[in-house]
Amino acid sequence: MRMIWDDLLNLFFPRLCVLCREPLTAGEEQICLQCLCDLPYTRFFYREENPVGSLFAGKAPVANATAFLHYEKGGKVQHLIHAFKYRGNRELACQLGRQAARALESHTAYQSVDFLIPVPLHPKRRKKRGYNQSEYLCRGIASVLHIPIHTTALQRRIKTGTQTRKSLYERWLNMQDVFVLEEAETLRGCHILLVDDVVTSGSTLSSCVETLGAVPGIRISILALAMA
Ligand SMILES: [Zn+2]
Repeated sequence: MRMIWDDLLNLFFPRLCVLCREPLTAGEEQICLQCLCDLPYTRFFYREENPVGSLFAGKAPVANATAFLHYEKGGKVQHLIHAFKYRGNRELACQLGRQAARALESHTAYQSVDFLIPVPLHPKRRKKRGYNQSEYLCRGIASVLHIPIHTTALQRRIKTGTQTRKSLYERWLNMQDVFVLEEAETLRGCHILLVDDVVTSGSTLSSCVETLGAVPGIRISILALAMA
């Protein structure tokens, strides 16, 4: 009955690929197979040393770092991220999380991960958007890798004042204490995978790593959906 209902629904309201707008076929979710094949994959998973890892070398103690896709201005990946970040398509974030997890699945470096931690949004932004897109990436990853998501340990502090009028150094200082640690005990000795949507300079992730680094025995790895 459910199948017939779904078929009928699809007849009148066809589900379309978020990239090419062609109708999706059975088994396709959000992105058609053709568009999925054409995405700019980094294949960083296969290399222990890669451009994401290099961002943190000598700055923050990171076990493994990787990104799933290349981000280009005006490109497909920007379109996807825009759709789940600003147009409320949370299911797309889950679906991309699942795809990234399938690529990650076979790599031993990530098999010992105990918790997924989404980079927290600024509380005001979270309230405005209604959700944290990185948390939805985590939900997709969790559904494939069966790793629990931890959203309470790493918190983002409310910043005061605007960033634009501050000097570079003041801004840097400001970033340093954006994140705070709570319930540190729950992460003692764990391997955690920090998840973000886009990594650019790595400063936000470095700040998270620095904060989480205070937990005794913690190991931190990083997964960004895309690298700009
Ligand atoms: Zn398509």
